[in-house]
Amino acid sequence: MSALLESYIAGQWFRAQDEGEPVVDAVTGEEVARVSSRGLDYAALVNHARSVGAPAIQALTFHERAGLLKSLAKHLGGVKDEFYALSARTGATRRDSMVDIDGGIGTVFSYASKGTRELPNDTIVLDGRFEPLGKQGTFLGQHIYISRPGVAVQINAFNFPVWGMLEKLAPAFLAGLPSIVKPASQTAYLTEAVVRRILESGILPEGSIQLVCGSAGTLLDELTEQDCVAFTGSAHTAAILRNHSSVLHGGVRLGVEADSLNSAILGPDVMTTDPEFDLFVKSVVTEMTVKAGQKCTAIRRVLVPVDIADEVVDAISAKLAKVTVGNPSDDSVRMGALASLAQRDEVRKAVEALGNAADIVFGDPNQVDVVGADAEKGAFLSPVLLRARPGAVEPHDIEPFGPVATVLSYGSIAEAVELAARGRGSLVVSLVSHDPQVARDVALGVAPWHGRLLVLDRDDAGESTGHGSPLPVLVHGGPGRAGGGEELGGIRAVLHHMQRTAIQGSPDMLTAVTGQWFTGSRRRGGEVHPFRKSLAELKIGDSIESDSRQVTLDDIDHFAEFTGDTFYAHTDPEAAAANALFGGIVAHGYLVVSLAAGLFVEPNPGPVLANFGVDNLRFLTPVKAEDTIRVTLTVKQIIPRSSADYGEVRWDAVVINQEGAAVATYDVLTLVAKTWPQEGQN
Ligand code: NAP
Repeated sequence: MSALLESYIAGQWFRAQDEGEPVVDAVTGEEVARVSSRGLDYAALVNHARSVGAPAIQALTFHERAGLLKSLAKHLGGVKDEFYALSARTGATRRDSMVDIDGGIGTVFSYASKGTRELPNDTIVLDGRFEPLGKQGTFLGQHIYISRPGVAVQINAFNFPVWGMLEKLAPAFLAGLPSIVKPASQTAYLTEAVVRRILESGILPEGSIQLVCGSAGTLLDELTEQDCVAFTGSAHTAAILRNHSSVLHGGVRLGVEADSLNSAILGPDVMTTDPEFDLFVKSVVTEMTVKAGQKCTAIRRVLVPVDIADEVVDAISAKLAKVTVGNPSDDSVRMGALASLAQRDEVRKAVEALGNAADIVFGDPNQVDVVGADAEKGAFLSPVLLRARPGAVEPHDIEPFGPVATVLSYGSIAEAVELAARGRGSLVVSLVSHDPQVARDVALGVAPWHGRLLVLDRDDAGESTGHGSPLPVLVHGGPGRAGGGEELGGIRAVLHHMQRTAIQGSPDMLTAVTGQWFTGSRRRGGEVHPFRKSLAELKIGDSIESDSRQVTLDDIDHFAEFTGDTFYAHTDPEAAAANALFGGIVAHGYLVVSLAAGLFVEPNPGPVLANFGVDNLRFLTPVKAEDTIRVTLTVKQIIPRSSADYGEVRWDAVVINQEGAAVATYDVLTLVAKTWPQEGQN
């Protein structure tokens, strides 16, 4: 008998109290492992996550969490060969395994990088700008995102045992939530191996990740308002979870990624001789055969113009005929096995049901030539292409979770859109077309029914990541039947896990709560110019009010000539006077900003190392010749960089005229040394 997979709970590995159910090799039918969670203490699991995991992660800033994710991704990259060996036992070819294993590790890298670049080195995130709530500026509102003192339960499908775990774990961890990972039993041996390596590395704080191998048992009963469940799997299981009392009555947030009848549309503009025709055929065949079609994003419905449908069917069939099925460890094999014999039976049943409305035009679900393996013992299946009869309903309803697709023909763009929408909400749709108007008409029609749309043509094909690949930076999920959930999408996935709260109060109170300076909040002047202060010495609210400077007509002339910006408002008195916005010659906005820099700068070498840009620049009131301006600069936000001896300082800049009216507002962005003089300098 093979080894019983263990769960990891409250800092220890746990062995179930029975022998467990066998899980077999998809290729050979041999037992790989046994799986059971009998006797697991689900209350202790959840309690450990809340009392140990959440506080430990939430004590770290986003940048520190991102740093740990980067170390973790590097570590897993170093030991991934072991995962490849196990992955082959799930029926995956090397290319399939790469999508799962390297794709998962790449997703962790992506979140590590985004966390550092797009989140503050803090534990809260500000959502948008503040809202002024009173006329005097003493009452403001600001939305913030804050971590929840809860746990993220992640229930995954069998088809991506590594990526499925890591794409949920990384954003949850960045958001401050500990994860309880529940892999699908069929491929849990691979997930367990990865979790062992994660834990052995000691990179993540204790309690950040726990594992349930076997049934989820009473796990959901233990969850409450601050917890969330991210589920990937069948619509059937999703319905059970949606009706769980913790979700219905207990305030537990549930995100669902369920089954999906994705389509690919061949544009009506495409001829058989166009490169788009080949791109379309290749994309359909790839999506049918990668992971043996066991991908939630695989193309199930192939929508083609009626007058070209025969050619499309022939071309796809010809390419499918070249696909070698068999043992994934054989180099000639393009498509491996399904995850289990039970899964193959399911797909055969689905093909039979599709037969009510469509005819098989390629492949035989009951017969396949297999290379390097026993066709009886492994879960092998031929790719199967069907062609729908007119009015077919089944292809829009039945998801064969294997290497199966159905060709449907359409007469007009409106009909193509209508057919795509009959999937009642899908993860992804491709349009292959080189016609911009077709792209717009189809995109606007199908977008409400899909989470993602790929427009593929000769121009982007070389770099396209393909129809079936969810990307860490783009949203993965779809409306309706696809589950209505959203995962990934860059920092969006982090914020999904957090609580958004509107904070109302005075500017001083908002500054205190958020650690970021708000307009109207107290400023601190002083003897020392803030540009002479290192990051360690600077405080939020440190400020400098500059001297005044008159802007003369000579200044404006000089700037116009010097830069070549001779726009009439700065050079032609009559034309400038005729424009009601100006009423005469006005200074260039960039002149005002440049003069302001001259007013606030401290010119000597010091802790301010560089200016790397401005944000939110607005010119509010024209500056006329002979107006006088001055500027107030205030430290708004301080972001130390963990990997450098400097950090970023965001300064609030307000330029006013002699009447006190704001003429320009913006944020100045600088890099400031953590200490000054810097180490090694005197
Ligand atoms: P499944 O049978 O629904 O299982 C999914 C997960 O739910 C497994 O971990 C399973 O554990 C667990 N589960 C089953 N019953 C449960 C219950 N009552 N309470 C809590 N957890 C429960 O789906 P599958 O057969 O593994 O996956 C295939 C389906 O997933 C396809 O329909 C496919 O379209 C969909 N899918 C969707 C996406 C997406 O991103 N939208 C991605 C991949 C797959 P056990 O294995 O231990 O039963």
